Amino acid sequence: MNFESVIDISKAELIQVTFPDEIPVKVFVKRLDLIHPIISGNKWFKQKYNLVYAKENDYKTLVTFGGAYSNHIHALAASGKEFGFETIGLIRGEEHLPLNPTLKAVTELGMKIFYVSRSDYRKKHLPEFEEWINKKFGKVYIVPEGGTNVLALKGGSEIPSLIEMDYDFICSACGTAGTIAGVIAGLDGNKKALGFSVLRGGAFLNNNVKNLISAYNGKAYTNWSINLDYHFGGYAKINRELILFIQNFYDANMIQLDPIYTGKMMYGIYHLGRNGYFGKDKTIIALHTGGLQGVEGMIEKMKNVLANKVR
Ligand SMILES: *Cc1c(COP(=O)(O)O)cnc(C)c1O
Repeated sequence: MNFESVIDISKAELIQVTFPDEIPVKVFVKRLDLIHPIISGNKWFKQKYNLVYAKENDYKTLVTFGGAYSNHIHALAASGKEFGFETIGLIRGEEHLPLNPTLKAVTELGMKIFYVSRSDYRKKHLPEFEEWINKKFGKVYIVPEGGTNVLALKGGSEIPSLIEMDYDFICSACGTAGTIAGVIAGLDGNKKALGFSVLRGGAFLNNNVKNLISAYNGKAYTNWSINLDYHFGGYAKINRELILFIQNFYDANMIQLDPIYTGKMMYGIYHLGRNGYFGKDKTIIALHTGGLQGVEGMIEKMKNVLANKVR
């Protein structure tokens, strides 16, 4: 597969950013969101070696799972189109017509979508579910939810080598924590990695990271942690303060963050930085993991929050 003609890693600029008030650390954003219009951010790194594996093993079709606004589903649909795979998306919940912007886009990219009830969706890790998929779709390569598996760590481990300067901390928003696990493996004990859980009750992510790294390279590292304090109530939950922070950050830096992942991470970096968490004069790398397609699905909610219609 010729990745270079599709994914342009050289577009991932590293840019210093500023905040409304000065904080005693330097923060740089690594713009992984710019490497491809759709297969952007962390999702490319997670998919890369899964695509290689699928090609090498002669799979023609990729099947994956996600919510109706999933960045992962969107990126996989685009990868299928770019690299010549059929794609099937198993979407959690009932069909809603008209299709939301994400599902409309993936359908246009050629992905076939099927809806899975919330109760069946919870069984997606079980062998029966895999049997059901194989019975229904034949020989297909199954990419797990969020794209996180051991091959995803191999791709994620390449991220630190793309940072062309010295730094102290590297940060990522965490959903499954596959990305930060890959980054930690890539650091191989050097510097520090800090993940920000975008989920309420994200303590289990610590075990995810340990188990994924152990399965990937058999090692255990101590130079990382997952911060659990900036989820804003849970996955895709937002408030006025977060929205205004994202707007101010855009005005100051001309970099768009999303309210589900990178906005929460950046808010966390800003607050921890201000409170002295990182220490003085440290350099922080914040990964821009993409996710901007998901903003469209949040616009109504953001307007309502700003208009004080909902809390
Ligand atoms: C999927 C996603 C994440 C979370 O990545 P994990 O590897 O699941 O932790 C972070 N940021 C954005 C923008 C994403 O789309």
